[in-house]
Amino acid sequence: MMQIFIPLNFLGFVYRELKGALANIEKMFSLLKAKPAIEDKADAPDLEIRAGRIEFDDVRFGYGEDREILKGIRFTVEPQQKVAIVGASGAGKSTLFKLLFRFYDAGAGRIRIDGRDIRDVNQRSLRSAIGVVPQEAVLFNQSILENVRYGRVDASDEEVMEVIRHAQLAEFIEQLPEGAATMVGERGLKFSGGEKQRVAIARALLKRPPIMVFDEATSSLDSHSERGILASLQQIARKQTTLVIAHRLSTVVDADVILVMDRGEIVERGSHAELLANDSHYASLWQLQQQERGVETVSTNL
Ligand code: ADP
Ligand code: MG
Repeated sequence: MMQIFIPLNFLGFVYRELKGALANIEKMFSLLKAKPAIEDKADAPDLEIRAGRIEFDDVRFGYGEDREILKGIRFTVEPQQKVAIVGASGAGKSTLFKLLFRFYDAGAGRIRIDGRDIRDVNQRSLRSAIGVVPQEAVLFNQSILENVRYGRVDASDEEVMEVIRHAQLAEFIEQLPEGAATMVGERGLKFSGGEKQRVAIARALLKRPPIMVFDEATSSLDSHSERGILASLQQIARKQTTLVIAHRLSTVVDADVILVMDRGEIVERGSHAELLANDSHYASLWQLQQQERGVETVSTNL
């Protein structure tokens, strides 16, 4: 053991420095742990999207050894279909998306896009084929225009302004003295959760990828703005394969197929009408949300 004779105040200084450094290292490790690097196979080719069919074929996954989060997930999204995934928080909905993006690899089973196992193509091409509207959108210290253009950097100002209108940001922007040139971020304009989501939606619309993924994309919007945005999205998503995770069932009634997830399994599937006709878990959730909606309408009319 080495003996240390150092004045206490100096030790205090070293301790504080070290603690700061350690905290950062810890943070780094926890980030690494949260996102283990998935390696591309050697010379993995680009994903070539022809139609945009997504298949989950008996997919199993757990973040650790101890707990299986997805317990044999099987579904297909046909090209240009809209499939919705609903279910209680913690059911494993966002985890499905993380696997589709290959932030993690499935423990068993396969995910295919147009018949191709996503583990056989490079991640860059996979991610560029999928547009995502996440639960939490990230904004940069740039103008609103540039923040939206991030969806597709070579888009013209006109194209950016068009998606801004579709994402229902136009009215809000027109009220700003500098309009779409207004700076966003720490020293600029602060966006609300709902406004951030609209920026994310505008970006995704600009990217127009063959596959679109929405993870509770309209959850921080009030139901009035939600309805407006959904109408624009429905128009645009018609030409794309769309996967939507939603809490509010009113946002998924038009989906071709609704998958109801519970604790890592798909427990019900069908169209809104099919599911309502049965004495389903979905039907009781729908009843409950309709009642809540009634309450909301009354209170906003006051
Ligand atoms: P949902 O989107 O349906 O609310 P998630 O897919 O986010 O559910 O989460 C499913 C389960 O996986 C939850 O129990 C959650 O705590 C767990 N989980 C999510 N992300 C991680 C992670 N990075 N590490 C460990 N467990 C996680
Ligand atoms: Mg989620």
